Amino acid sequence: MTEKGMKRLTLLTEGDRSQADRALEELRIHQAELEAQNLELTQMRDRLELERGRYLALFQALPIPGVVLDRMAVIVEANAAAVGFFGFSSKRALHRHSFRRLLADRGGAWFGDALAQASRDGSWEVEGAVQLMDRAGQSIPVDLRLIRMSNEYHLDEHMLVLAIDRRRQEVHDRHRRLYQALLDNSPALVTAYDRHGRCLLMNQRASEVLAVSAQSAIGQPRSAFLPGEQLDYERQSDQRVWESGHPIQESLRWPTEDGRLYAVNRFPLRDAERRIFAVATISADITEMESMRQRLDLAMQVFSRGAEGVIITDEKRRITFVNEAFKNMLGVPDIEIQGHEPDFLSTSHHPPGFARDIFRGLLARGGWEGEVWVRRRNGEVFPAWLRLSVVRALNGRVSHFIGIVNDITQRKAAEEEIQRLAYFDSLTGLPNRYLLKDRVDQAIRRCHRGGKGFALVFLDLDRFKEINDAFGHGMGDGLLVEFARRLRRLLREQDTVCRLGGDEFVLVLMEISAESLLQRVRSVLESATRPFEIKGHRLQVSASIGIAMYPDDGESFDELLKNADTAMYQSKSAGRNTFRFFDPQMALEASRRAVVENALREALHSDQIHMVFQPQVALDSNRLIGAEALMRWRHPELGEIPPAEFIQLAERTGLIVELGNRALDMVLAQLAAWRSTRLADLPVSVNVSGEQFWRKDFLDRIRAGLADADLPPRSLALELTEHTAMRLPDEAVRIMDSLSQLGVSLAIDDFGTGYSSLAYLHRFPLDVIKIDRSFVCELETSETARQVCRSILTIAQTTGLKTIAEGVETEGQRDFLARLGCGAMQGFLFARPMGAEEFLAFAEKYA
Ligand code: C2E
Ligand code: CA
Ligand code: CA
Repeated sequence: MTEKGMKRLTLLTEGDRSQADRALEELRIHQAELEAQNLELTQMRDRLELERGRYLALFQALPIPGVVLDRMAVIVEANAAAVGFFGFSSKRALHRHSFRRLLADRGGAWFGDALAQASRDGSWEVEGAVQLMDRAGQSIPVDLRLIRMSNEYHLDEHMLVLAIDRRRQEVHDRHRRLYQALLDNSPALVTAYDRHGRCLLMNQRASEVLAVSAQSAIGQPRSAFLPGEQLDYERQSDQRVWESGHPIQESLRWPTEDGRLYAVNRFPLRDAERRIFAVATISADITEMESMRQRLDLAMQVFSRGAEGVIITDEKRRITFVNEAFKNMLGVPDIEIQGHEPDFLSTSHHPPGFARDIFRGLLARGGWEGEVWVRRRNGEVFPAWLRLSVVRALNGRVSHFIGIVNDITQRKAAEEEIQRLAYFDSLTGLPNRYLLKDRVDQAIRRCHRGGKGFALVFLDLDRFKEINDAFGHGMGDGLLVEFARRLRRLLREQDTVCRLGGDEFVLVLMEISAESLLQRVRSVLESATRPFEIKGHRLQVSASIGIAMYPDDGESFDELLKNADTAMYQSKSAGRNTFRFFDPQMALEASRRAVVENALREALHSDQIHMVFQPQVALDSNRLIGAEALMRWRHPELGEIPPAEFIQLAERTGLIVELGNRALDMVLAQLAAWRSTRLADLPVSVNVSGEQFWRKDFLDRIRAGLADADLPPRSLALELTEHTAMRLPDEAVRIMDSLSQLGVSLAIDDFGTGYSSLAYLHRFPLDVIKIDRSFVCELETSETARQVCRSILTIAQTTGLKTIAEGVETEGQRDFLARLGCGAMQGFLFARPMGAEEFLAFAEKYA
């Protein structure tokens, strides 16, 4: 009851009836008041219900997890977000759950403190960052907000707890920190300014360079910390970006630091609607790079203008750069070689694979240098010093090759001059002992590679000392100079003449025949004895010579020189003005050979040479079936020289062609002479050596010879050895075909001694195979010889060829051959080779 109502009841006890009425009236009023009050209460309750309903709906719809706790921190209410957040199946499952259980580790302590603080201070709200745990045990960072709820009726103390998930925030924070770290660690300056020139962003490096802390700069117009001059520039540049919306690049020097150079990238920053809200710059310090570039520029200029040729290729050896000097040296415009592999080393002056070997060395050692021949575009070559190096990238991979080419033509010439001085005798200009040794060593090496030998000729002037003593050294020198000149004239290109010192000279004569060696030694002797005219004086000297042959008389320069010297002393003791070979035996042979060779040349134009004829007979009919013409040489002094000796010599010296032609002519003449005799139809065979056979005019010569002598071709047979025919078998077949078409018959001589291929034997248009004498003479003693004869005869029989066995000396051999089926023979058993007249007589007697 209200206070006012109480007062009205008191008034009723003091009054009359009317007072009672009034009291009644009062009651009615009171009643009405109560009713009104009741209505008010009901309305208030309804309103509260409504509010509570609204509150609950709001609580439920809250997008953040929320729970209501009672004083004991037990959950009495939870919203849908909380159910989901904590991973419960329903609201109900969460009810009656102690909130403490949802707090991870240290969260519990904080929560206790927070509750205590809330009740102590009577504060309404407490906030803190804690970890909560969901049903799965996963901890979740949250901002926890505790709000004490008191209702007007003080019925209970409840606590509303809201958990704001900080995971999103944390990711965002992490990103922000990452970007910040990137920005602050960047060596570049990063800034951003809004439309009013207020700083939005400034990284560590920018703040260092501008000498302003980022914190104080951000939000400030840049006029607050940029110097005036810089300020204007920045504003204008930013303005251009604001207007164009495009980034710009510029390089500029910051006045704030000691003139460092920056490459600035200025670009717009746009919001979600693509509107520009700021202009940012990233400025990289390029001071070092710039100075490096300048140095490189300078180096490039030095390269380009220098006198050394420079060539740079990429890792695949394709040319990327050549300088002017290189282009001039090689005579190439660079467009023509750019991108190609360099080929200026490919010249026949280098051994094959030279460039490849260099390249290998280069890769293995990182560098290579040496002397090379460089080929100009016009094909000329010049000596050059080439330096190559490999440029590798930081990862160790080859990035470039650099070549530096120096034309050393001049230097070489200078070197040669120095060499000339070091290697040549200053008086006569002849090579000295050092160069001689060099040349001899070279000659020895050449011989090892298959060359022939050489002669070292040691010469000492006789009685030279007397001239020096009598006329003075000036005269002696004059004589030496003149003698050197004479010697030089006697030499061929491959020979060497040198002055050892004093009046000693050495000649190295390469690959010469014994005859020409002797001939030249004699002319050397002669050149010494020819009188010298020196300063109006007529001087007469002579020389003594010793000869050592490589390799017979010594394997080294020193040995050869020593032996030649020894031989020279033999000449001296033999009375001077003569020569001696170190080896007397060799001297003998050499001089015999020389004599024979010389005699043969003369014999060609004399009547010392004639032909003899050896009969060939058929065993069964005992008939003469032909003859072999054999050459004979009878020298007036040397006597009869066996063909084995002079034919071989003629073949070595090339005289065989003339000699063979001579034989052919003589035989043809003889055949012509025999035409009216009973030998008219007898074929005569002539030996043809390889030298003859392979000459282009051979066929014509045979044809013309037969025509001139007016002979039927059948009367001539030619004997070729296996060696001759097998040298170029296909070509031989061609020539032999022509001969055989001509009607000349062909025989293979000395069959079995060579390496005739049966395949060719079939293709050669042969008429006769001659079984070599070496098999025939061993027939009775050697099984091998018998086998060879047997197989030759089998081959001949199966291919339809005639066989003639050569050198049959005994009846045993004859019978053996007969048993094997060989019908034709030639040999001492039947007749020795004989002169033309004797042969005619023989033929008349013989059947
Ligand atoms: P070759 O062509 O094998 O000639 C046959 C040789 O055997 C001749 O030697 C001949 O006298 C010899 N001979 C024949 N029957 C007998 C025998 O029963 N016993 C012995 N021991 N020897 C016998 P020659 O005349 O000394 O000729 C030797 C070589 O010289 C020939 O061998 C031939 O290769 C060559 N030759 C001879 N004359 C000429 C020719 O005019 N031109 C060419 N290119 N070479 C010729
Ligand atoms: Ca022969
Ligand atoms: Ca023979």
